[in-house]
Amino acid sequence: MFVKLEHPPTAKEEYLNIACEEQRTEITTLAEELKGLRVVHVNSTATGGGVAEILQSMVPFMNSLGLPTERVVVNGNPDFFQATKRIHNLLQGAEGTLSESEREAYVETNRRIAEEFQQRNLEADCWFFHDPQVLPLAGMLAVGPAALKNWVCHIDLTAPSESTLNSLLPYTRHYHNLFFSLENYVPGGLGEAPVHIAPPAIDPFTAKNMALSPSEATAITAAMGVDPGRPLVTQVSRFDLWKDPIGVVEAYRQARQRIPGLQLALLGISQAIDDPEAASVVSQVEEYAAGDPDVHLYFYPDGLPASIDEIVNAFQVASDVVLQKSTREGFGLTVAEAMWKGKAVIGGNVGGIRVQIENGVTGFLVNSPRECAERIVQLVSDKELQDRIGRAARESVRQKFLLPRLTLDYLRAARGVKVLSRMNGHRNGHSPEKDF
Ligand code: UDP
Repeated sequence: MFVKLEHPPTAKEEYLNIACEEQRTEITTLAEELKGLRVVHVNSTATGGGVAEILQSMVPFMNSLGLPTERVVVNGNPDFFQATKRIHNLLQGAEGTLSESEREAYVETNRRIAEEFQQRNLEADCWFFHDPQVLPLAGMLAVGPAALKNWVCHIDLTAPSESTLNSLLPYTRHYHNLFFSLENYVPGGLGEAPVHIAPPAIDPFTAKNMALSPSEATAITAAMGVDPGRPLVTQVSRFDLWKDPIGVVEAYRQARQRIPGLQLALLGISQAIDDPEAASVVSQVEEYAAGDPDVHLYFYPDGLPASIDEIVNAFQVASDVVLQKSTREGFGLTVAEAMWKGKAVIGGNVGGIRVQIENGVTGFLVNSPRECAERIVQLVSDKELQDRIGRAARESVRQKFLLPRLTLDYLRAARGVKVLSRMNGHRNGHSPEKDF
C-alpha cells in the first residue's frame, strides 16, 4: 500500500548559491545541527500536482544536506481516492457532505497503510505528512516518542465545508507542527501544535524554470504559431473558469485597440484530454475569441515542438507581459514561475496572487478586465517599466518562493526533534546527546 520513490541525487551547492545569504547561512547551520536526521515525506501521488513537484526536488536537496530523506507514496483503491478527492473538494468550498461509506474508506485505508508502515519497519526521526489524504496516519502509527510528526496542508481552506473540517480536526492533534500555505487558510479549532506559514516554492533548476535565452524561447513560440516580431501577452493556466480566461480575452481585446498587432496566448495544455470541464471551457473561450487569429489557445498535447515544461518556460520568457487574471487562486505557482524569469506579471487581486505580487513594485494586481487592459498597455509600451518590475519580481521570488526557503521552513520545524529527544531522555533518566 505504499512505495518508496527514488530521486536522482542533486548537488546542494547550486541550491545554496541561488538562496539569499541569510537563508544559505541558516540552512547550512541547521543541516549541520540536524546531520543524520532521518526524514520521511509521505504523500499520495507520485507525479502531477504541486506537492509531487515540490517533493521530487526537496527530497534530493535534503539528502544533499546530510539528512537521509525518503519519499513515500501511499496507495489505495478507487474508493479511497474517490473519498479523498471528495474531501479535497469539500475543504476547498464545494457543496455537500462526506458520506459514511466515504469516511470509512478514508479511515480504513489509512489504518491499513499505517499497519504496513509498521510491518515493513518504515521509520523516521521526522515525518512530513502532506495533505488531507494522509492526515490520519500520524495518530495511527506507533512511532517512537522522539519522532516528530508534521502535517503540511497545501490546499485552500478559506471557505471549507464546516462538517468535513470538523470531522478532520481531531486528527491534527496527533501532530507536533502544522503547516499552511497562507495565514488566512489557517482554520480555527486546531489545538496546541505550533502553526507555520510555508507558501509553496519553485525549483529554479527544472526544465520549466531554468534559464532559457530569448532566442531559444522565441524559436519554440514561433514553432507554435506566434509572430516573434509583435508583442505577446500570455496566461499559463488550466482551462478553468476560476482562472478567468474569458476576462483575459476581454482585457486583450481592449488593450489591442491601443497596441495594434498585440497577440495573446492561453496555454493550458492538458494531458487529460478526456477532462470534460476543461474541454468545455476551451470551447467557450474559442467562441468568445470569435476566430481572432492572434488569440492562440493551446490545449491539445499532440505534435508539440518541445516538452510541456519547456513550452511553459518558453512562453513565459518570450512574453512581454504575463497574466494570471484568476478570480480565485490557492497560490498560483505560475505567478512565481514568470516572476522568476524577470517578467512583469499582472495578476488577479485574489488569494495567493496577493501574497506574491506587491502592486506596482513586483507586478500589478487588477480587479477587472478593464484594469488588466490598462496595465497591459502601460507595460507593453514602457520597456523600462517592464524591466524595473521584472528585476524586483525576480529578486522577490529569490528571497521568498524558491526551494531553499521552503526547505528552511521545514528544517526549522525539524529542530523540534531535539526538544522531543531531550524530553524523552529526561523521562528515562539520562540526557541523550544526538539521537539521530
Ligand atoms: N502548467 C503546465 N502546463 C500548462 C499549464 C500549466 O505545466 O499548459 C503548470 C504551471 O506551469 C504550474 C502548474 O501547472 O506549474 C499550475 O499550478 P498553479 O498553482 O498555477 O495552478 P493550479 O493548476 O494548481 O490551480
